Amino acid sequence: MSNAVPEPTTTDAGIPVPSDGLSLTVGPDGPILLQDHYLIEQMANFNRERIPERQPHAKGGGAFGRFEVTNDVSAYTRAAVFSPGTKTDTLIRFSTVAGERGTPDTWRDPRGFSLRFYTSEGNLDIVGNNTPVFFIRDPLKFQHFIRSQKRRAANNLRDNDMQWDFWTLVPESAHMLSWLMGDRGIPRTWRHMNGYSSHTYSWINAAGKISWVKYHFISDQGIEFLTQAEADQLAGADPDYHQRDLYRTIERGNYPSWTLEMQVMPFEDAGSYRFNPFDLTKVWPHSDYPLIEVGRLTLDRNVTDYHTEIEQAAFEPNNQVPGTGLSPDKMLLARGFAYADAHRARLGVNYKQIPVNSPRVEVHSYSKDGVMRINNVSDPVYAPNSYGGPQADPLRAAEALWDSDGDMVRAAYTLHAEDDDYGQAATMVREVLDDAARERLVSNVASHLRNGVSEPVLLRAFEYWKHIDKETGEKIEAAVRSEST
Ligand code: NDP
Repeated sequence: MSNAVPEPTTTDAGIPVPSDGLSLTVGPDGPILLQDHYLIEQMANFNRERIPERQPHAKGGGAFGRFEVTNDVSAYTRAAVFSPGTKTDTLIRFSTVAGERGTPDTWRDPRGFSLRFYTSEGNLDIVGNNTPVFFIRDPLKFQHFIRSQKRRAANNLRDNDMQWDFWTLVPESAHMLSWLMGDRGIPRTWRHMNGYSSHTYSWINAAGKISWVKYHFISDQGIEFLTQAEADQLAGADPDYHQRDLYRTIERGNYPSWTLEMQVMPFEDAGSYRFNPFDLTKVWPHSDYPLIEVGRLTLDRNVTDYHTEIEQAAFEPNNQVPGTGLSPDKMLLARGFAYADAHRARLGVNYKQIPVNSPRVEVHSYSKDGVMRINNVSDPVYAPNSYGGPQADPLRAAEALWDSDGDMVRAAYTLHAEDDDYGQAATMVREVLDDAARERLVSNVASHLRNGVSEPVLLRAFEYWKHIDKETGEKIEAAVRSEST
């Protein structure tokens, strides 16, 4: 409530309007007049309020914050954002993957962890998840994977049979599925989960030396999860549970934080490492590449307009700054195209001029015109030119380049010594989970399989889990069969 005299309502052109509630008519009961342009503006705007939702990751929320470097990692990267003592403004968006915009926050699903650093060298985006791995390793499978998690054509229903059909036919999903069906498949809040780049990226130091890196944002709140029963209850009681938690927590001044720790692999190790380091279904065991602290991310400011600051936030892995870069991970390279293309489709070609997507540095690009251009373009409009236009500076760009040579093929990755689909999933189920966590995994999988999965998919699912861990697979089979007899 406020006692201040409100500002006069205006049209979108800033013209004061005569009424907030009465249309212009011929007599009190008469027809509405076409010249009531404010009424028409209001109706037309309302009809156009919704923009297409994101294909995956439609439901989400986020906040602004800051990143402070606490360690010296200049041996690995020349990026200003990771230089000792640097503080950088950030934006984060958390999300679920399969559900549409209004679906419950507490569905079992990976969580998106998309982070932007507004650095002094342009925007750096790390478009990660709360899992260090993913379901697939080739981008041609991605569209099919997401369709299998969404809705069937005929009845518009999600369908566990469709999900397990895909997963069991694509066993590279085993590691990720062991995560999804375990405790971390439903985080208690967005504050109580880690964020991982999942992909391997590159860092480049001042001498031009490249390292392969993985980003780990470790929650300072600790890891906490919801049981399936708690999540099911909350899905009905408060479908926006995670979004509400983040907003209220920041509003109360209780700012959540994450410590950024990196795994760094020397460039030369990649070829002979026991796992293919660019395979998105694999981690690098900590014992091989220990975590190196870099700094702290703190979320300390709520957005003031969800639509302009979160719904229109456009993160993309192409946003790499000097000293950071991509890697030969095929999924990552494909995301470079897919994300920018999705933003052009949803927001228009000039989406980087929307304030939340604008860098905090001057832009000197040769992009020109297009729908909803806001920044003025000046001459010269082409390069090269002899009239003082911007000129590329390869030294400042510090692009990450690597060797690549070979015949054109359609093939999976080169296999490294310990590459297979089930090995790392088995390590997690057997060595990371304790007995109680394994029991919850069995229970989560069994109840998912009991819900609409039919033969022969069911049989394949039992075999799939037995490949990961024989005892766990047998328990899942027994749990499903005992319930169905
Ligand atoms: P470590 O014993 O060094 O690390 C295991 C890690 O597993 C922990 O540090 C923790 O990562 C994470 N973890 C703990 N409990 C769970 C859980 N219930 N569900 C999922 N993850 C959990 O082992 P390795 O590095 O050799 O990896 C062994 C397995 O651990 C991997 O196959 C992978 O599935 C999993 N893991 C590995 C990570 C890595 O980057 N090496 C990261 C996360 C999991 P954190 O501190 O990140 O929470």
